[in-house]
Amino acid sequence: MTIDLHTHSRVSDGTASPRDLVHAAAAAGLQVVAITDHDTTLGWDEAAAAAVEAGVALVRGIEVSTRFRGAGVHLLAYLPDAGDAALQEELSRIVRGREDRVPTMLARLRELGIPATEEALAASAGDSEVTGRPHVADLLVRLGVVRDRDQAFAEYLADGGPAFVDRYAPELPAMLSVVRAAGGVPVLAHPWGRGSAHVLDERAIAGLRDQGLAGIEVDHLDHDPGTRDRLRAIAQRLDLVVTGSSDHHGTGKTGHDLGCETTAPDQLARILDLAASLGSPTTLIGKAELT
Ligand code: AMP
Ligand code: FE
Ligand code: FE
Ligand code: ZN
Repeated sequence: MTIDLHTHSRVSDGTASPRDLVHAAAAAGLQVVAITDHDTTLGWDEAAAAAVEAGVALVRGIEVSTRFRGAGVHLLAYLPDAGDAALQEELSRIVRGREDRVPTMLARLRELGIPATEEALAASAGDSEVTGRPHVADLLVRLGVVRDRDQAFAEYLADGGPAFVDRYAPELPAMLSVVRAAGGVPVLAHPWGRGSAHVLDERAIAGLRDQGLAGIEVDHLDHDPGTRDRLRAIAQRLDLVVTGSSDHHGTGKTGHDLGCETTAPDQLARILDLAASLGSPTTLIGKAELT
């Protein structure tokens, strides 16, 4: 049973449509895939239809941008009710905040002599519903300024970089409540990856667990073997669900192939049970034998 619980379509910053993403997951031999675009549920319906066609089970989720002790933390929310008004309102605020800063970032780039216009960005972002730094990075690649997204972040777009502009993100504990109230199961994405490791020590994670956190993503390419061992031990002490996933972004992120990291069936079963006990109307689409 191959289960990958964190992937992006081009509805956010992946490169495949939700339909193609789900078909690619089936072709890669996955039995279960989660679509977790940044801050939006807009890819869900297309992915759901494709899951039925492709014969792969689909977990509908979101990767929510939050803030904790001043640092950016990504929170995976599995199987929430997409019709929940408080959840959608918070997601719209995040998406608006992300899009509102783009013109300022482009202006900064132009001050640096790079012809980063709104028109050029629109051409590069295609039909993405959530335009953010990855699309600005793609523009820099198209303009020949950098080789790939990684170099664009390293030289221009990362926090503190010359074209970085801050944006709105909800506080993590508040978002845990919003996700759970919507019936969703909150799991910290790559907690000790880029950016959030220094604020998420065991005590902080224990505190978050008391505020509703259900799990942590341990097996992720941003975590080296020692990091995974320590995170797995923390999850065991705190009785948190352990997940693993590719964080696939299509061709937008190299090395993150579908299914390169996976989640154990019993851990997915815990997520499904939790969503049901939180009263979520959103369930797994398609069959998966989890035992
Ligand atoms: P934004 O939400 O617009 O701030 O963009 C954040 C997204 O950019 C993340 O979710 C990643 O997909 C991507 N990203 C952030 N930092 C980097 C980095 N250093 N290298 C490559 N991609 C990154
Ligand atoms: Fe991303
Ligand atoms: Fe992330
Ligand atoms: Zn992600």
